[in-house]
Amino acid sequence: MMKNLRRTSQILFLLVFLILFIQTEYKGKDELGLPVRLFLDFDPLIALSSLLATHVVKKIFLLSLVTIALTFFLGRVFCGWVCPLGTLNTVIGYFRMRRPSRNPDDGNHPRMRKYKYYILVFILVAAVFGWNAAGFLDPISITIRSMAIGFNPAINGLVRAFFEFSYVLAVPGISPAMDSLYSILTGTLLAFEQPVFRQMIPIALIFSAILALNFVAPRFWCRYLCPLGALLGFVGYRQLFARVDVDGEKCVSCHMCNRSCQGDATPFPPGQWTSSECLICFNCKDVCPASAVRIHPSMKKTGDGKVDLQRRHIIATGVAAIAAVPLIGLGETGKRHSPDLIRPPGALPEDEFLRTCVKCGECMKVCLTNGLQPAFNQAGLEGLWTPVLVPRLGYCEFYCNLCNQVCPTGAIRSISLEEKQKIRIGLAFFDKNRCIPYALGRNCGVCEEHCPAPGKAITFLIEEGIDRSGKSFELKKPVVNPDLCIGCGICENKCPIVDKPGIRVSSINESRADYQLYL
Ligand code: SF4
Ligand code: SF4
Repeated sequence: MMKNLRRTSQILFLLVFLILFIQTEYKGKDELGLPVRLFLDFDPLIALSSLLATHVVKKIFLLSLVTIALTFFLGRVFCGWVCPLGTLNTVIGYFRMRRPSRNPDDGNHPRMRKYKYYILVFILVAAVFGWNAAGFLDPISITIRSMAIGFNPAINGLVRAFFEFSYVLAVPGISPAMDSLYSILTGTLLAFEQPVFRQMIPIALIFSAILALNFVAPRFWCRYLCPLGALLGFVGYRQLFARVDVDGEKCVSCHMCNRSCQGDATPFPPGQWTSSECLICFNCKDVCPASAVRIHPSMKKTGDGKVDLQRRHIIATGVAAIAAVPLIGLGETGKRHSPDLIRPPGALPEDEFLRTCVKCGECMKVCLTNGLQPAFNQAGLEGLWTPVLVPRLGYCEFYCNLCNQVCPTGAIRSISLEEKQKIRIGLAFFDKNRCIPYALGRNCGVCEEHCPAPGKAITFLIEEGIDRSGKSFELKKPVVNPDLCIGCGICENKCPIVDKPGIRVSSINESRADYQLYL
C-alpha cells in the first residue's frame, strides 16, 4: 500500500512539475502564474550553494527549510517521492530492475555511493570560494534546463510539423478539426513561438545520458552522482520515522529486497541497511516473500550500513575545488569584456550574477522573442549556460519583464516594467559598410521605425543624395543617441540586411557596468 502511495505521489509531483513547466510561458498575460521555479525554491542545494557563494540570505530560500525539516524526520523522501528527475529515473530504472540475472545483487554498486558526496563537497567548497557550480549538477536545475532548452524546441517542432502536414493534406472534415485543435494547443500546451536554442543538442544529450545510466544500474544518477541526494542523505542520516528493520530470523536470504531497492541502501544482509541511501520507496517491504521487512518509527538503530567515505579523499576533493576556482576564471573574458555578453535587463552586476545564476534556463524559456540564449564562451566556463541576449535571434521586448518574474535566485532582479524600460543592456552601433543609407546611398529607416525608446534613440542626419536617374533627394542617414539607446536589439533584429545587419548591439554602456563609455 505504501509503495502505491509513493508511486501516486511521484506521478502527482511529476504532473505538477509538467503543468508549471508548461505555464512558465507567455500566454497572453503580462504576469505569469506560478512558474516552475517553485521546485527550485524547495531545493536546499541551490539555497545552500547560493548562500555560500553570495553571502546573501534570500527570503525565497526559506522554503528549502521545509525540505530540510522533512528530510531530518523522514529521510530522503524528497528523492523517493517528489523529485521529478528521480521519478523519470524510477520509470526507466524499472525496466533495468526487471531484467533477469543470476547475480542476486545485479545493478547494485555500494562502493560507488560515495561519489555523490565528493561531488557535493566539491560544489560546496567551490561555492565558499566564489564559484557557484551547483546549477550544473543540481537535479531540478538540470531537469528544467534540459526540458526548456533541449526537449521543448524538439517537441514543439514535431507537433507543429504534424499539424502543418495535416494542413497540406487538406482532408475534408479532418483538416478543419485539426486547425481548431492547433489553435487550442498554441494557446495552452505549445510555446508561444517555435523556440530555437543554441546548444540544445548537447544539453539534450547530457540529459539523455543521465537517463540512459539507468540501464547500468537503476536510478544510477540518484544513487551515485546526485549532489542534492548526498546533501539530503547527510541531513536525513539519523531520521527516526521511517527506519527499515529486517528481521534476521524471518529472512530467507533471497536478496529480493536488495534487487528492488531504489537507493542501493542494502537492506540485506539484516542490520546493514544504510539510512542515508534509503529513498523510503517501500519496495523492500513490498517484495519480501518472508514478510521480514518492517518500515516504522523507531528510536532503535536498525541498520549499521555506512558509505565508504575517506577523509583523505574528502580533503583532496576540497583542495581540487579550491584549485578549480581560479582556473575557471582564466580565459579571454577575464581580460576583455565580450561584446556579445548582453545580459537580460535587471541582471545583477556580472560577478554577482555569475555567483547567483544557477543556469536553470527558465528566463530563456519565458523570453517572449526567444532572444535569451544559453551562453557558451561569452562569460567563460563559469558563465556556461547563463542567459545572454542574441539580438539576431530575438530582441528584448520593451513591454515585457517576464524573465525577472521567473528567476529563482534573483540573478535577474525582480523589477517593475517601468524600471526595466529604463535599464540599458547595451548600445547599438551602425556598420557603415552594411547600413543601406551609408553603404548604398538609399533611404531605409527600419531601425528608427522600430526603436521603442521614448524620444527615439535613432534619429537622422539629412544629406543630399543622388538617385539612379541623377536626381537629388533627401538622404536620411541614421545615427544612435547613446543617452537614449537601451540596447534592446530590436534594430539589429529587424534590420533588412538579414545576414550581417547594418546595426549591431554590443554590451558596452550597459547600466550595471562599473565602467562607462566616454560618449
Ligand atoms: S524582458 Fe526582454 S529579455 Fe526578459 S523575457 Fe522579456 S523580452 Fe526576453
Ligand atoms: S538568470 Fe535565468 S538561468 Fe539564471 S537562475 Fe535566473 S532564471 Fe535561471
